[in-house]
Amino acid sequence: FTPAEVSDLRAAFPYFAAHDLSGDGPAYLDAAATSQRPAAVLDAERRFLETANAAVHRGTSGAVGEATGAFEGARAAVAAFVGAATPEQIVWAENATDALNIVALGIGEANAGLGVAGSERFALGAGDEILVTEAEHHANLIPWQRLAAKTGATFTYIPVREDGTWTLDDARAALTPRTKIFAFAHVSNVTGYVAPVAELVELARAVGAVTVLDACQSVPHIPVDFGALGVDFAAFSGHKMLGPNGIGVLYGRPELLAALPPARTGGSAITRVTMESAEFMPPPLRFEPGTQPVSQVVGLGAAVDFITRADLARAAVREHELVERLVAGITETPGLRLLGPADTSQRIALTAVSVAGVHAHDVGQFLDEQGVLVRVGHHCAQPLHRALGITSSTRASVHLTTTEDEVDRFLDALRGAQRYFGAEVSA
Ligand code: PMP
Repeated sequence: FTPAEVSDLRAAFPYFAAHDLSGDGPAYLDAAATSQRPAAVLDAERRFLETANAAVHRGTSGAVGEATGAFEGARAAVAAFVGAATPEQIVWAENATDALNIVALGIGEANAGLGVAGSERFALGAGDEILVTEAEHHANLIPWQRLAAKTGATFTYIPVREDGTWTLDDARAALTPRTKIFAFAHVSNVTGYVAPVAELVELARAVGAVTVLDACQSVPHIPVDFGALGVDFAAFSGHKMLGPNGIGVLYGRPELLAALPPARTGGSAITRVTMESAEFMPPPLRFEPGTQPVSQVVGLGAAVDFITRADLARAAVREHELVERLVAGITETPGLRLLGPADTSQRIALTAVSVAGVHAHDVGQFLDEQGVLVRVGHHCAQPLHRALGITSSTRASVHLTTTEDEVDRFLDALRGAQRYFGAEVSA
């Protein structure tokens, strides 16, 4: 993107218009936590609520039909965006956390005698293994710990190397014929490391393991085709990809979604209910009980449309230049430790650093005073931080609207924090 294209893109975001970024306004480097929304997304939600609001898939009125059309249209748009062959492979969830729980809790139900036709393929018990990595966000960790505890399966993980990454060889060594589930992040929200998904899926498939991909930090930044990657399940959040809060996505291969029982049940998701039992609809509606967040779904459809028009592939190239700028600035500054690979071809989207001698919360407060908005803490990845020998870090993340100036302000502010706190810079 040329600087003019970036400023055109930024002009589409009321948040950036509300904060004068040429002056002392904030440098927004926290898209990995949540992104800002373009007017097109806010308008789509508002227009829907003002003109077409109705509960979907209920009743026969024209208004319901129109709302249902918008709801299902967004499903088709999201399906096309992530390489799903059919819209039925897209399940609406609250966020990525919820999407991952739909899978883990559903497999728990399958093993508690509450399965549907085909649920045997999710059988888990003593001697079976659930495999994750030490780099996972808690959302792709705790649900699997609990599923292992419930079913008696063994919980195992691929330890990270010194830089917080793990390799195909590490996965090869960890996968065994007893591995039934392999859950991992496409892109780490701390190291930015991009996992070789297609190769990992091939390894997992060779031992018969179901793959679950946490795609929270990949889908907003690079073109992702779940069908081509071959993953069984994948999860991501709307609010990290210019969309609304309260809407997330679970992608699944049709035969696996069909074999997964619902963990949450109630109205709308059923075909026949008696006083003794219930039969469930096919996916995706099986997993969407209760009144749905229709305006958020419509907003997510608009976000996909916005990203597609902006040209994600081109945006990815520019974002990568910004990541290279961040990595160069961090690695050439004494006293800053870059988490994750120094080789920028292995990473995208974000950089987290540890500042020698200064607590991340002090860094965060100093940066905030400089108008540089970042995320500090453990980023919901405590085990990864522990493995790296630290308790917290400072993360700057980029998005398609990030400017070089914002990156430079972050780097300057980091160096300012080092001076202010008298940090050890000879490290
Ligand atoms: N996984 C990763 C890699 C993330 O970065 C996040 C968001 N911090 C999540 C899962 C959870 O996303 P959400 O809070 O939207 O459910």
